[in-house]
Amino acid sequence: MPTFTIHPPRGDVRHLVIVFGDQLDRDATVLQEMDKQRDAVLMMEVAGESTHVPSHKQRTVLFLSAMRHFALELKKQDYRVIYQRLDDDDNPGTFHQAITTAVKIYKPARLRCTLPGEWRVLQMLQSLAGKLNVALDVTDDQHFLTTPAEFSDWAEGRKELVMEYFYREQRKKTGFLMKKDGKPVGGAWNFDKENRETFKSAPKPPAPYTPSVDEITRDVMELVERVLPDLPGKLDHFLWPVTRRTAMKALDDFIDHRLPNFGKYQDAMWTDEPWLYHSRISSAVNLKLLHPREVIERAVAAYESGHAPINAVEGFVRQLLGWREFIRGVYWHEGADYANRNHLDEHGNLPEFYWTGETDMACMRDCLGQVVEHGYSHHIQRLMITGNFALIAGIDPRAISDWYLGMYVDAVDWVTSPNTLGMVMHADGGVVGTKPYAASANYINKMSNYCKNCPYDRKTRGNEDSCPFNTFYWDFLMRNEAKLSKNQRMAMSYKNVARITADEKKNICGRAAERRATFGI
Ligand SMILES: Cc1cc2nc3c(=O)[nH]c(=O)nc-3n(C[C@H](O)[C@H](O)[C@H](O)COP(=O)(O)OP(=O)(O)OC[C@H]3O[C@@H](n4cnc5c(N)ncnc54)[C@H](O)[C@@H]3O)c2cc1C
Ligand code: SF4
Repeated sequence: MPTFTIHPPRGDVRHLVIVFGDQLDRDATVLQEMDKQRDAVLMMEVAGESTHVPSHKQRTVLFLSAMRHFALELKKQDYRVIYQRLDDDDNPGTFHQAITTAVKIYKPARLRCTLPGEWRVLQMLQSLAGKLNVALDVTDDQHFLTTPAEFSDWAEGRKELVMEYFYREQRKKTGFLMKKDGKPVGGAWNFDKENRETFKSAPKPPAPYTPSVDEITRDVMELVERVLPDLPGKLDHFLWPVTRRTAMKALDDFIDHRLPNFGKYQDAMWTDEPWLYHSRISSAVNLKLLHPREVIERAVAAYESGHAPINAVEGFVRQLLGWREFIRGVYWHEGADYANRNHLDEHGNLPEFYWTGETDMACMRDCLGQVVEHGYSHHIQRLMITGNFALIAGIDPRAISDWYLGMYVDAVDWVTSPNTLGMVMHADGGVVGTKPYAASANYINKMSNYCKNCPYDRKTRGNEDSCPFNTFYWDFLMRNEAKLSKNQRMAMSYKNVARITADEKKNICGRAAERRATFGI
C-alpha cells in the first residue's frame, strides 16, 4: 500500500498555482486567493533540482518528504493538486518540462506563484510563460519581514550596505527588543563581546529534539537511494522536521533548552559536537514551515519572562531579523549576475575531501564529516573553517558556492549565494562584508579544540608540517595585496606582511603551491 498517492484533477484549470519545494506555507497569498473548484496547485519532484548541483541525499529527502506532507495537507483542505512524483514514468526531470506538460494538459489562463528563491527559477518561469503564451503572476513571499523593494529603497544611494544599520532599522520598524523611548532593550544594540566564549567549560548541551522518521519519509529515502543513488552525503541519520507540527516542536525544544546559552557559545566549535547551542531551525524556516516572525516572537518572549538573557536573545534575533533579511535583500538587489562575480579572480578546483570529509586536517575533517553525515554545520564552521579554507586556498567562488548549495539541508540560492560569494569568498568585492574573513590557525585554535588533535603544526607557516591554514593565510594576503592592502580594516594584517623577509615570503608561496597541488586545488 503506497503511503503517498494523489490523483490528478479532472477537467480544465483556470489558474495553475505553482508551489515549489521551499514554499510550503499554508497561508501563502497565492493559496489564499485560489478558487478551489476552478484552480489547481502544481507541485513537482524533478531530478534536475537534485543534480544541477549535486544535492546531498538528506537535502533531497527533506524537500521531497516535506512536499509530500504538504500536498496531503492541501488535499485535506480540498485543494485540487497536480503532483509530479520523482518515480512517475512520465517524469520529465525539469521544472521547465513539467510545467510545459501541465499547461498543455490543463490549459490554464494564468500561472501563479510566490516569488521563487532563485533567479534561475524566476527567469525560467518568465521565459516559459512567454513561450506558452500564458499570463504569469508572481507575488511577494510573506515569509520574510522585508520585501525586495523595501530593501532596495533602503540600499539605494548608500555607499556601503552595512548589516548593522539595516538591522537597527529593522528593530525600529518591528519594535522587537525596543523600549518605548526608541532605545534598544538592554541598553545596547548588540552584545557580541559577551558572545565569544569557547566551549571548554560549557555545560554539555542537551540532545536536541529529533522527529521520528515516518512512513512517507522512509519511502522517500528508499526512492532517493533507488532513483538518485549517486548523490553525495549519507542518509543514516535523518533528523529534520518535514511538517509544521514537528518544526514547531523543534522550535519549542530550542527555546526551552538551548536559547539561554545560545549567545555565549555562538562562535564556539568543538570536536564531535555539531549542534552546541544552535537552533537547527534554518531548514524549517527556509521551507516556510516556520515563520521568522513567530520564531523571533518566541525568543523575545523568553527574554521577557526571564527564561533567557539579553545577550542570547539579541544574538539570536540579530541572526533572523538582521542577517537573514539582509542576505535576502542583497540577493534580489544585486541582480542575477551576482552569481558570477569573482573579485579576487580565483580559479582553484574544489578538493575531493569536501565531498567525503577524508582529510588529515582535524578541523576540516570534523566540519566536513558533519556535513556528509547531517547536511549541516553551524555558522562559524561554515564561515571560519570550510569557507575560510576555500577563500585562502584560492578556490573558484562558483565551485565552493555550488558545494554549499548542494550539501546543506537549509540551502536555497537566495541565502547560500550571498553568504558564500559575499561573506566568505569576498567575490562581490565587499557588498556583504567590508573585508574578507581570512584567518589562520590562531583563530581556529582560540575558538575550538581542533588543533589539539591535528598532525599539523599550528604555530608555523612555511614548513613541511605547518598548518595549511597558516601557509594559505599568508599566501592569500600576499597574492591579493594589490586589491586588499588599501582596505583600512586590513591595515594590521598588511603591517604583519611587511615584516616578513623576502626569503620567507618565497618559501611560503612555494609551500602554498605545493599544498595546492597535493590537495588537487
Ligand atoms: C558559507 C555560508 C553558507 C551559508 N549557507 C546557508 C544556507 O544555505 N541556508 C541558510 O539558511 N543559512 C546559510 N548560512 C547562514 C547560517 O550559517 C545558517 O543559517 C545557520 O548555520 C543555520 O543553522 P541554525 O538553524 O542552527 O542557526 P542558528 O545559529 O541557530 O541561527 C538562527 C537562525 O538565524 C538565521 N541565520 C543566521 N545567520 C544567517 C545568515 N548569515 N544568513 C541567513 N540566515 C541566517 C537562520 O535562519 C538560522 O536558523 C550560511 C553561512 C555561511 C557562512
Ligand atoms: S592545526 Fe591547522 S589544520 Fe590542524 S586543526 Fe588547527 S587549524 Fe586545522
